[in-house]
Amino acid sequence: MTFRHESTSGVLQHTAKGAAPAINPFEEMANRFDQAARLLKLDPGLTKVLREPIKEIKVAIPVVMDDGRIELFIGYRVHHNIARGPAKGGIRFDPHVSLDEVRALASWMTWKCAVMNIPFGGGKGGVICDPLKLSRNELERITRRYTAELMDFFGPEKDVPAPDVGTDSQTMAWIMDTYSMHMRHTVTSVVTGKPVSIGGSAGRVEATGRGVMIAAREAGKAHGVPLKDARVAIQGFGNVGSISAKMFYMEGSKIIAVSDVNGAIQNKKGLDVPALLEYMAKKKTVVGFPGSIPLDADDLLTIDCDILVPAALENQITAENAKDIKAKIVVEGANGPTTHDADEILQKKGVIVIPDILANGGGVTVSYFEWVQDRMGFFWREKEVNERLEEMMVQSFGDVRDMAAAHKVSYRIAAYMVAIQRVAHDMQVRGLYA
Ligand code: NAD
Repeated sequence: MTFRHESTSGVLQHTAKGAAPAINPFEEMANRFDQAARLLKLDPGLTKVLREPIKEIKVAIPVVMDDGRIELFIGYRVHHNIARGPAKGGIRFDPHVSLDEVRALASWMTWKCAVMNIPFGGGKGGVICDPLKLSRNELERITRRYTAELMDFFGPEKDVPAPDVGTDSQTMAWIMDTYSMHMRHTVTSVVTGKPVSIGGSAGRVEATGRGVMIAAREAGKAHGVPLKDARVAIQGFGNVGSISAKMFYMEGSKIIAVSDVNGAIQNKKGLDVPALLEYMAKKKTVVGFPGSIPLDADDLLTIDCDILVPAALENQITAENAKDIKAKIVVEGANGPTTHDADEILQKKGVIVIPDILANGGGVTVSYFEWVQDRMGFFWREKEVNERLEEMMVQSFGDVRDMAAAHKVSYRIAAYMVAIQRVAHDMQVRGLYA
């Protein structure tokens, strides 16, 4: 298993620790893309075009630290494809951000937006830094300078960032403010995942976790695993993991194990999720939660459960541990948590994998709603947001399920096929500008 947050290094080590993980996430993405493109008999020229990100930028971000030192951070922004609309995708603050990781994440955004059938392309950004080791003021300065360096990239019609690992609604508020200061007027639609009071959407914070639950529910219906009383294990307890836990709990599932970067906990009878969320808000970790016993972090993924939700980082389910996975259904809350080799092992074992580009598509779907509302200047009630999300998740799940059945392929390859078909079609309709 590749643990991404094992580093206890300080802020000053951010560049030295930025080494690429052993498993290259872009190659992982490209491997699945190639399989799907072959099955679709995609034109070889178009295959080349759709595999490659269209624009990549590296920015150097000088920041005055709280102690007066000048520090330099490295950031990236990648556009993978913008045929169907502005580049859409989060910004990650993490010590292990690399250009290949950002490329992979940007590509997954193209495919995810197409699977969800929303009018966006794929983009992603990241800054090599450890937000846990930075003060709020230092994070604000990094965010504002990163935004200023990318003024020509960002824009409601060009590239619309959102939160990802290590960033949140506050980060989005700083980006929106910086962009607006440069434009000399308030531009809310330049980012999504903002606080509701400054143009955010009701339901956005819960959207990814809600979508994960809906994807699991639909998969459960198709494969005989009802959510009621299902035993669920969740890796990662940030936005996606914690909200997924809440949503599954509300459906009557038993959350039997959860983890975060500090460790894992379990309770075979089911954790008291509302109390765990309160504990997490206070202690910033799940470890030590009363009514749980510690669990080895490695064992969380292989625990005996019905539904496993990896909701942390890439490359967690690998050839090494896939054979020991006992879940009936894996629902990928995180992006890229399962390697290509692991996919093959899981498929042979009969484990159903609901892929990231479908399972966690609820977040970008409500980001799309937020962008629409900002541009209309008219905001929807939470109920309306949730109903539209429900409808789109169910529709996309059905599109992928039908493709999987028609071609006798996994949900993952089917999801890529649905996405590639949509993007390729639209590129062909537009034609190539020469
Ligand atoms: P977050 O920063 O809110 O949470 C990440 C969580 O993972 C934290 O609880 C952290 O402690 C935990 N973690 C990190 N390393 C771990 C490890 N080795 N073992 C166990 N836990 C570990 O991030 P998030 O927004 O919840 O994103 C999580 C994943 O979901 C990422 O892959 C992200 O790209 C993806 N995603 C997020 C959204 C969104 O709307 N936030 C949407 C789609 C996909």
